[in-house]
This record gives sequence, C-alpha cells and structure tokens, in this order.
Amino acid sequence: MEKNDVVIVGGGLSGLACAYKLAEKDLQVIVVERGDFPGSKNVTGGRLYMMPITEIAGDMLDGAPFERKVVRERWSLLGEENSVSIDLTSENFRKKEHSFTVLRATFDRWLADKLTEKGIFVIPKYRVDDLLWEGDKVVGVRAGTEEIFANVVVASDGVLSFLGEKAGLKPKMDPANYAVGIKEVIELPEEKINDRFNVQSGEGVAHLFLGDVTKGLFGGGFLYTNKESVSLGIVVGIKALMGRTPGLEAHTLMEAFKERYELKTLIKDGHLSEYSAHVIPEGGLNGISRIYGNGIILTGDAAGFALNMGVTVRGMEFAIASGIIGAEAILRAKEADDYSEKSLSSYETRLKETFVLQDLQTCRNMPAYLDNEVFFDLYPRSIPDLAEKIMWFDKGPKERIGKTLWDNMKASGLLSLKSLVELYRIKNL
Ligand SMILES: Cc1cc2nc3c(=O)[nH]c(=O)nc-3n(C[C@H](O)[C@H](O)[C@H](O)COP(=O)(O)OP(=O)(O)OC[C@H]3O[C@@H](n4cnc5c(N)ncnc54)[C@H](O)[C@@H]3O)c2cc1C
Repeated sequence: MEKNDVVIVGGGLSGLACAYKLAEKDLQVIVVERGDFPGSKNVTGGRLYMMPITEIAGDMLDGAPFERKVVRERWSLLGEENSVSIDLTSENFRKKEHSFTVLRATFDRWLADKLTEKGIFVIPKYRVDDLLWEGDKVVGVRAGTEEIFANVVVASDGVLSFLGEKAGLKPKMDPANYAVGIKEVIELPEEKINDRFNVQSGEGVAHLFLGDVTKGLFGGGFLYTNKESVSLGIVVGIKALMGRTPGLEAHTLMEAFKERYELKTLIKDGHLSEYSAHVIPEGGLNGISRIYGNGIILTGDAAGFALNMGVTVRGMEFAIASGIIGAEAILRAKEADDYSEKSLSSYETRLKETFVLQDLQTCRNMPAYLDNEVFFDLYPRSIPDLAEKIMWFDKGPKERIGKTLWDNMKASGLLSLKSLVELYRIKNL
C-alpha cells in the first residue's frame, strides 16, 4: 500500500492552510473533505483579522475574495424594548488592512482552487470514519472500505473533531466549552448596504449585540456586511441554554432577533440565501486538547483554537496560523524522518511563540468571566433603561439628572455589590 507523506482531514481554513504550506515542498499530500466542496459545510460569523496572520500566511491570501474591509465597529446592549449602541470609526481601520468580512463558501473554495494550482487536490464528498493504527502510532485514515496511509494525519475536522477523540487527544465534550451559532445570509443590493450602514463601497460594518438577543444568556448576536449581503446570526452557550428554565431554542432566539426594531430596517426587503447552524469552541485555553500524538496533529477548531473576547470572536486566524505552523512541524519531522509525538511536539513549541497560544494564555480568564449574568443580563437590561430615563421628558418638571442616575442605578442593581465586583473582575481579563 502506497504511503503518503500527509493526509489532511477537513478542507476548512486550517486544513487548506496546512496543505498550502506543505505545497512549498515536494510532498505527497492528500486533503479530504466531506462536504460537496470546500466551504460548503463551513460556518463563520464573518470577520477575519489580518494583522496576526499577515507574516505567517506569506502570499497565501494574496488576491483573496474578501467581502468588505471593516471600518465601523458597533456594539449594542439590547434591553427588552430599548437599546444603547456605541459606534466606533477610525482612520486606522480605513487605511490599514485590519479586518475583512468573508463568506466561507466563496473564500474556502478560492483557497482550494489556489491549492490545485500548486498541485494539491482536495477530494470532496469524502468522509473519514476512523484512524488506522500501528501499535500506538496513527498511520492513516479509513473511509468506508478505503484506507489511506500517511506518515502524519492532520485532523482539521472542526470543532467536534471525531478524529481528535479517536486519537485519545480530545477530552469528552463539556457543554461549558461550546456554544451553538445560527447564521443567515441575507442578500441586499450593494447601494442599499452602503446607505443603510453609512459606509462606502468596499467598506463594511461589524456589529455585535448583547442582552435580550439571548434573553440574558451567555452569547450574543452579530451582523457583518458583505459586498451584497449581510451575515446575521446569534451565538448562545450550550451549557447556559441547557440550564435555562423554561427551555429556549436557539432558532426561536434568532427569529425574535430578526424582529427587533434595531434590525428590521437594516434587513428590510432582503432575500434569505443561506441558513446554517454550527458549534463553536468557547473554552479558551481550558478547552484545548492535547494537540499532537504519534503520527497526528490537530489544527484549528479541532484543537480548540478559538477565542471569544466578549467584544469579538476569533477563530479563523487561529485556524489559518495553526494549519501553517502544523505544516512547518511536519516539514521538520520529514527532515528528521521521525513522526513520533516527540518530534511533532515542535508544533506546540512554535505555537507558544505566536499569538495562537499567547493570546489564549493572555485571555485565559475570559471564559470564566463570560459565564456571567451581570455582563449578559444586568448591564444590557439596565443601561438602556437608564439612558432612556435620562432622555425622557414628560409633562411634569424634569428631575435632576444626577438624581435620575443615582436612583435608577441603585434600583436596577447597577450599584449593587455583585455589579461592582464584576466591574472589578474586568481588570483580570
Ligand atoms: C456562528 C459562528 C460565528 C463565528 N464568527 C467568527 C468570526 O467572526 N471570526 C472568526 O475568526 N471566527 C468566527 N467563528 C469561528 C470560525 O468560524 C472557526 O474558528 C473556523 O471556521 C475554524 O476553521 P477550521 O478549518 O478549524 O474548521 P472548519 O471550518 O469547521 O472546517 C472543518 C472541516 O472538516 C470537515 N470534516 C469534518 N469531519 C470530517 C470527516 N470525518 N471527514 C472529512 N471531512 C470532515 C468539515 O466538513 C469542514 O469542512 C465563528 C463560528 C461560528 C459557528
């Protein structure tokens, strides 16, 4: 049986990036993807931060089909019937290549085509069912009755990484470390998007929502503008959802979100072109499995490399960087003709020198902080109410603004010990 150098399972960003780096050397590489084409099964909210990966990615993203450059950041706290928003613009966002919105069906397919030009083909509609072993060494994968042998298996099979589990690298799934996301792509003409979001062609908006969108549960809503569509969705923690009484379904939250006054005019007359649901790793550093073994490495979501920073979600640049750094470790292992766990440990060593494990380490307290009803419930419920009271002018005389502020902060719980403790905890994030 012919033995390949590498078999990569999963044609998402991490698998494709790994293959792209391996293509620099004359290696026998196979990429298999269970979807109809790369990008067909891949879900993201949709914003890719460029700065962390520009150097690591080299020329990989040259000519990439980005949707819009994000030049406006918006955050909204949603109360039940009101909301407060912050709208941030900066010339830096406009001048620099800071972040772009992407649609994965286009983006991943484009990257797979670029791979083909380099002589590496992604085999679609190919679902791997199992690992092949020789003693304690992974030596390939099985799909139905077919077997593919390789010196290294790269498990880029996403958040639920069945291969990571089979290899004994991933611990049993803990609902606290995962969230579920629902996303719609709603088509709108380019001009309408420019007008509604106050941006020029090529420029876009990233808008995050907290509070009533998840009924105060851990999670939030997102809206990203693409060239001729918007990506709209919600994310909600699985543990939070499971513990809620009465029960709630993620899709009903999504429907209610779309009915909000704040969104209705933004998506009016839009045409729904895509609907998807997907799990997201949310455990941060604590959710990361062992990421290498004898003859195997885990990349991207499969390894748990994603970071919810409260104000933004990052996974795609982690997927790209870990794919490339994984490929570098494999190239070193090939040079040494040693694919053992010890040899592949250079993957983790190198990740520790980059933003991938450094940012996860820096933000290690974030998941615990975000398991927090003050952040997702009290602030979004109380702050819009407070702003509304300040801005309300009734028949009678207006009371002092200081009194309105003080009384309402006390009554809402914003001045409670619990709330102040949460504010204090921010310093450790
Ligand atoms: C709703 C939502 C919003 C998000 N928002 C953002 C955001 O705005 N910015 C950001 O950076 N990140 C975001 N993320 C996270 C980001 O999308 C992921 O971190 C990223 O897609 C991970 O890429 P990956 O290549 O590791 O995995 P994936 O893209 O999931 O790719 C895994 C691939 O493996 C294939 N596969 C799985 N099992 C098998 C098998 N047995 N055989 C063959 N193929 C298999 C799958 O079909 C898939 O193509 C979001 C995620 C979600 C769900």
